[in-house]
Formats: sequence, structure tokens, C-alpha cells
Amino acid sequence: MALREQLLAVADELRRRKADGEKTVAIAEDTLSAVRAAVAAQNRGGMAGDVVGTAAPTAPAVPPSAAKPDAGADFARRAPAATHEPAPDQPPRGDRGAALFGGGAPAAKPTVKIAPAQGGAAIPPAMPFVLPEGDKATRWAWLKDRVENDPVCRAHVRPGKKVVLGVGTLDSKIFFCGEAPGADEEVQGEPFVGAAGQLLTKMIKAMGLDRGQVYIGNIMNWRPEMPTPPGLEQIGNRPPTAEEMAYCLPHLKAQLEIVQPELIVALGATAAAGLLGAGSFKALGEIRGRWQTFAGRPVMVTYHPSYLLRNNSNRAKRVVWEDLLKVMERAQLPISERQRNFFLER
Ligand code: URA
Repeated sequence: MALREQLLAVADELRRRKADGEKTVAIAEDTLSAVRAAVAAQNRGGMAGDVVGTAAPTAPAVPPSAAKPDAGADFARRAPAATHEPAPDQPPRGDRGAALFGGGAPAAKPTVKIAPAQGGAAIPPAMPFVLPEGDKATRWAWLKDRVENDPVCRAHVRPGKKVVLGVGTLDSKIFFCGEAPGADEEVQGEPFVGAAGQLLTKMIKAMGLDRGQVYIGNIMNWRPEMPTPPGLEQIGNRPPTAEEMAYCLPHLKAQLEIVQPELIVALGATAAAGLLGAGSFKALGEIRGRWQTFAGRPVMVTYHPSYLLRNNSNRAKRVVWEDLLKVMERAQLPISERQRNFFLER
């Protein structure tokens, strides 16, 4: 796995933990040195980005266990035994540190503060609008044109990158809602097309559906910017600010108005905060797996697929799968005995 992907995976995990309420993470000193040095070496070779801290000289590469990008390959199959399975009574994120930073118990010191989210240019209040009359396809095409040409969205998209609206069938019963476009999404102009998206597609398949049979959107329509030297690619992602989410929310509501889904699946803490309000929960574990409501529609909150890219234990998959079984039941999708038993330890 390329250094860039490893760093993206680590940065992604850190912001997810932050969204989950964690203020600090413990990183072993040698791991931190290795990351700094690897970034420095890469920068000397012409790549931007210093995700963890300032660069330091020479060193070995990032530990290979930083992330597991192909964990999604077996969402519907039994995974090999995980090295760091959480105890059955623990929430699944219990030992993510060990899995991320090279195994063993993470050292208590030093701690690294997760950087606060930084907005780009000032975000004005959301601009209310009314969808035109017409059939779903006409209204969606109007919305897509509006969002893609929205001056605020455009101002936050880097040259050559795209504003991203949702995608899928406009008659879907189920509306999957993620956080924000990432590197792959802003290139392709479609949500969930990168590694997390490929895993989401597998999760949807495990539910007996095709990606094209559902609707997939995000809270945000652009990739939240990180400080990046001109001419270089942005490394890593950050969660959107409350102002950014508030600006994009009318676009999400308009998609819901067009699609009229029976229910929404909120993927991860940021999506949940965008829909339910950041103050409505402290940690995702408080609300996941239990029906919530947004705009008069039932919302099932579950972990983001990128969480499963970091933790592909059967226990973690089963937690998410049980949330999806509730979604299938509510949407009256057929559920086979085999599906009911996915990811149960034998
Ligand atoms: N993660 C998200 O939340 N949305 C995307 O579109 C891609 C990754």
C-alpha cells in the first residue's frame, strides 16, 4: 500500500475518532518517528503533506498495519480471525489504536492532539430554494445543475475537482447518507466511489440489493479543504464544520424530497451529527442501532464503512450488519437465514 493511502487511512481514522468524541490518541514514540520520517522522505521526493506533525529526518516506512484497505472484499464472507478482536462486551472500536499503530497496547505517552477542523473561505448561511414542479428526474436534474453551479460549492472545490451530489435510483426506499466526498469522489463527481464506497457497495449487495437500486448521498457537496500547497494534491480529509454542513443541508433535504425514501441510513458520526444535530449525542455508540428521525423519516445510524476498513473483525462487521438487518426489516426486504447469520462466530 502506498504511503499516501496509508496516511489517508490514518488521517481518516483520527478524524472519525475525533467525531466519536476522542480528544487524544496515544501513539508509540517509534511509530510517530517512523511516520514523520516517512513523510519527510516522501516530501523530499516531491509529495505534499504532513498529516501527523512536522517532518523529521530519515527512517523506515510507516508500519504496514496502519490500515486494511481490502477489508471490504469479504463483507459478506467470514473474515480471517482478527489479531485484535475486541472483547465481546466492548464496543468494537475498543482496540483500534493497536490495529492502527502497529500492534500491542498503545503507549500512554506521548499523546497527539487531533487538529481542530479548519474551514476554508467563509461560509455564508444556507440559501433556501424551492424545487420546481415536475417528475423526479426533472427535479433531480434541476437540483444537480443548481448544486454543481452553486457559487459557494464551486468556490470550495479545487481546480479540476467536482462538486458532488447524490446518486442512485430516485425511487429507492433506502437513502444512504455519508459525510463528504473524499479524494476519489471529488475526481469522479460521485459519492462513495473510493475504498469506503467499494465496501458500501458490498454492504448493499449483502442486503440483496445492487448499488443502483438505492440512493447514496452525503451531508456535504464538496471535499472539505485542508491546507495544501498550491499545485499539490490535498492529503487527508477532515470532518466538515457545522457551518459547512448547514450550508449543504438544503441540498440533502431537497434530495430527500425528490426521492421520498422510506428510511435513511446515516453512515458514521458526522452524517449523524449533520442530520440529528451535533449536540444530540456525545458518542456514536449512544445512538447507533436505534431508530432516530430526520425530516419525518426514520434514520438508522451505523458505523461508517471506513471504520470497517480499519477493523475488519467479524464482531465489528456483525455490529454494522445488525443495524442493516433492522433496515432490511423496516424496508420489508426479504431476509434469508444465511443473511441473518452473516458474521456470527461459529
Ligand atoms: N465517505 C463519505 O462519507 N462519503 C463519500 O462520498 C466517500 C467517503
